Amino acid sequence: MTPVEGTRWWFDSGSAALDFAYTGPLVADPDDDSGAGAELLLGLDDLLGWLGERFGEVQGVPRPGDLEDARGLRDAIARLAVAAAAGEELPASDIDIVNLFAATPDVPPALPGGNRQAGHASVRVPQALSTLAREAVRLFGPEAGGRIHPCSADDCSIIYLDTSRAGSRRWCSMQRCGNRAKVRKHRAKAAAQAQ
Ligand SMILES: [Zn+2]
Repeated sequence: MTPVEGTRWWFDSGSAALDFAYTGPLVADPDDDSGAGAELLLGLDDLLGWLGERFGEVQGVPRPGDLEDARGLRDAIARLAVAAAAGEELPASDIDIVNLFAATPDVPPALPGGNRQAGHASVRVPQALSTLAREAVRLFGPEAGGRIHPCSADDCSIIYLDTSRAGSRRWCSMQRCGNRAKVRKHRAKAAAQAQ
């Protein structure tokens, strides 16, 4: 399955912050042909569309700097993900960027129902970015330690968060790489038996 340019990213990385990083150049391997690495946030509308799918409609008039802010946070998360997946030390400058966004007001949690629409009716871009930054704090913090991996397939460098209880997830997605690996293994076995 090859994502077509302009369509939204199709795979579940296990983390909203990682999904966000995949709207831009998150590639551990520059020869990757997965479709990861394409810039999906070409304009403010793309950003509002992406955030809207996660947070409900984004309200208010976006500021001119919102797109730049979003890309800055996203790229920092992407670099942190590449470092974490490689087991390398996280770049301090990118930690600073995430912490800066996480320190601002996020999207408040709200119970459904009630008589007044107080919370989600007024989500703004900076709040959504703060929520994503806070996700990134959890993602790269000590609790998630060792759960960020590159896909096990040889020709795939997609990075994901292993949310399986046993920590046994091996593929970016079963549809993409898991099944291909199974098919290859099956063919090799059949070929060996035919000899
Ligand atoms: Zn893969």
